[in-house]
Amino acid sequence: MISTKLKNAIRDIPDFPKPGIIFKDITPILKDAGLCSEVIEAFVLEMKGDKIDVIAGIESRGFLFGLMLANRLQIPFVPIRKQGKLPAKTIQEPCELEYGSAILELHQDALIAGQRVMIHDDLLATGGTVSAATRLVQKIGGVVAGYSFVISLDFLNGKEKLRGDSENIITLAS
Ligand code: 5GP
Repeated sequence: MISTKLKNAIRDIPDFPKPGIIFKDITPILKDAGLCSEVIEAFVLEMKGDKIDVIAGIESRGFLFGLMLANRLQIPFVPIRKQGKLPAKTIQEPCELEYGSAILELHQDALIAGQRVMIHDDLLATGGTVSAATRLVQKIGGVVAGYSFVISLDFLNGKEKLRGDSENIITLAS
C-alpha cells in the first residue's frame, strides 16, 4: 500500500520550524526513486481519467511531485511562488499559514481562461495555502478541477476549506 510506504518514509521532525511544531519531512521519499514513481502512478490512478489541462504547484515542495506529475501526464506545469520570486508580471493573494502568513504569486499569463487546473502541494495542513492558490487560479480564469497532496494532516480539517471549490481532493497518506 502506497500510504503505508509513505508513512514509513516520512520523518517527524520535532520543533521545526518553531518550537511545538512537528514537521513532516518528505525528503526521504525523494531519495527512493522507486517510491517517487509509485507516488506519481498513485496520483494518476486517483485522477481516474479526469480532464486536467494544467498542474499548478506551490513553492517549494509542491514543485517536486507537481512537475513530475505534469510531465507524466504530458501537460503544462505552472509555479505558484512566494512574493518576489516570479520574474514576469504577477497577480498576488495573501495567505494565512499554520505558522505565519505570506503572499503568493502567479504569472498573469500562466493560464488560458477556462483551463482545468489541478493544484498540487506536498502537504495539506489548514488549507490556507491552497485556498490562496485557488483564488490566484480563479482570478486569471482558470477552473480548479481538483487538488492533490502527498500527505494530509486530517486533524486540521483543511479539506473542509477546499470542498466549496472542488470535491476532487486526492491525498495519498494522512
Ligand atoms: P496550510 O496552508 O495547509 O496550513 O499548510 C500547508 C503548507 O505548509 C504547504 O505548502 C506545506 O508545504 C507547508 N507545511 C506545513 N506543515 C508542513 C509539514 O509538517 N511538512 C511539510 N513537508 N510541509 C508543511
